[in-house]
Amino acid sequence: MNRSIPLSSETAARHKHADSSFDVVIAGAGIAGCTAARLFALEGLHVALVEHHAKEDAYKQLCTHFIQPSATPTIRRLGLDCLIEEAGAIRNNINIWTRYGWIGNLSPVDKDGMELFGYNVQRRTLDPILRRLAVTTPSVTSFLGCHVQRLVEQQGEVKRVELAGMDSAVLQTRLVVGADGRSSPLATIAGVKAVSTPNTRFAASAAYRGVRLVRGTCSQIWMRGPKMGYIFPNDDGITVVAYMSTKDAFEEFHLSPRDSLTRAIVSFPDAPDLSTAIPAGRVLMVKDYPNLSRRASARNIAFVGDALMSLDSLPGVSCGFAFQTAEWLVDALTPALRDDRPLRGALGCYTRTVSRRLYGHRFFVRDMARRRKFNVLERLAFAAAAQDDWASRQVHNFAARLNGPAQLLAPQAVLRMLWVCMSRPASSSAQRDAPV
Ligand SMILES: Cc1cc2nc3c(=O)[nH]c(=O)nc-3n(C[C@H](O)[C@H](O)[C@H](O)COP(=O)(O)OP(=O)(O)OC[C@H]3O[C@@H](n4cnc5c(N)ncnc54)[C@H](O)[C@@H]3O)c2cc1C
Repeated sequence: MNRSIPLSSETAARHKHADSSFDVVIAGAGIAGCTAARLFALEGLHVALVEHHAKEDAYKQLCTHFIQPSATPTIRRLGLDCLIEEAGAIRNNINIWTRYGWIGNLSPVDKDGMELFGYNVQRRTLDPILRRLAVTTPSVTSFLGCHVQRLVEQQGEVKRVELAGMDSAVLQTRLVVGADGRSSPLATIAGVKAVSTPNTRFAASAAYRGVRLVRGTCSQIWMRGPKMGYIFPNDDGITVVAYMSTKDAFEEFHLSPRDSLTRAIVSFPDAPDLSTAIPAGRVLMVKDYPNLSRRASARNIAFVGDALMSLDSLPGVSCGFAFQTAEWLVDALTPALRDDRPLRGALGCYTRTVSRRLYGHRFFVRDMARRRKFNVLERLAFAAAAQDDWASRQVHNFAARLNGPAQLLAPQAVLRMLWVCMSRPASSSAQRDAPV
C-alpha cells in the first residue's frame, strides 16, 4: 500500500516520515514491539515503530531478566540469539527447591525431544540490542520519542494514527499493534479495558557482583510457603537476587530493604552468602502488581506482550510471552496483510492461538497469586520431581512453558507421580517440617 495523507508544507518539511503509509503501526519498542516489527518487516511488510523513549539504548529497569525456554525459537528466528550470546547472555537452566528437596537442573525438552534453554540477560544488555536490530531492519521506520495521540476511525476500523512528541506525523495503516506495556496508553485511547485480578505478593530484587553460588552456576529458586527466593546469574558478572512474600510482610521488609533481602535469602538451604557480594544498584521493590489482561484484538487493533497480559512476576514468564505473542501475531496476520484481504479472520486466528497457548498458564498464575501455599497437585508434582528424573522433566517442561497445565497434570502423569511418591525414598535435601 502506498497512500499518503496531505500535510501542510511546513509540517511536511519538519517531519520526514509525515507522509508515510504503513501496513502496520506498532506502539512500543520493548521486547514485544521490536519482535513484531522485525518479524513483520522480514516478511516484506512496511512497519512504523513508535516508542516514547527518545534514546535507542533505553531499557526496562524493573525485571529480573529470566527468559523462558519457550521463547528461544522466536529469539533464534529474530537472529537475536548470537547477538545476545556475544554480549554475554547466559543459557539458563534452573533448579528449584521446595520442602521435598531440589528437583535438579535438568534441561526441558521440546515436542521433538530436543533439549532447550532460555536466557538470563540483563535488560540493559538485551533491550538496546533488540531495538537496534528492529530499527535497522529494512522496511522498519522508527519514531523514537513519540507516542500515539489519536486514532482516526472510519467504518469501525482505525485508518490513521496521529503521533505526537519529538516528531508529529499522521500515519495511514491497516493494522495497529499495542505493544506499549502493562498500562498500554494505546488501549486507553482505543477504549479497551484491562481485567485485573489480585496478587497477594510483593517483590524485591537487587543486582550483585561476586556472588559465590553453592549449587553451581544455574539459576536457583526456593519456594517455601509464601516465601520465594531467586538467584539469577547474568551477563557481565551480575547476579540478580530476588525475594517475594505476601504483602503482610512488606512493612517490616521495607524498613531496611537491603538487610531484609540478605536475611531472607540466606535463610534458604544451600543459599549463597551475600555478605561478601558487592551491590550493583539499589534494591527495587514492587508492592502492588495485580495481574492484568486485555482482549487480544478489537477492531483492527491487536495487543501483544504486557499490553495483552501482564502477570505476577513469580514464575518469570512475561518476557517469554512478549516474544511469543508477537510472533503468533505476525504469523496470523502476514498473509492477509500481504494479499490486502480483510483482517478480521486473521485477528480471530491470533485470538484463538493466544487463548489455546496462554490461558491455561494464565489460570495457574492468577490462582497462585491469591494463595500462600501449594495446592495438592503442585505438592504431588514437586514431591515426585525431587525423587525422579521423569517427574523432574515434567515440572521443568511446564516451568519452561513448553507444556501447559493439561500436560503436566494429565491423568497418566498424575498416576505416575503418585507411584513415584509411594515407591521412592524422600530426597536427601528435603525438609519435611518446612511449609509448602
Ligand atoms: C519486578 C519484576 C520482575 C520481572 N521479572 C521478569 C523475569 O524475570 N522474566 C520475565 O519473563 N518477565 C519478568 N517481568 C515482566 C517483564 O518485565 C515484562 O513482561 C516485559 O518487559 C514485557 O515486555 P513488553 O515489550 O510487552 O513491554 P515493556 O517491556 O513494558 O515495553 C513497552 C514499551 O512501550 C513503550 N511505551 C510505553 N508507553 C508508550 C507510548 N504511549 N507510546 C510509545 N511507546 C510507549 C515503553 O517505553 C517500552 O519501550 C518482571 C516484571 C516485574 C515487575
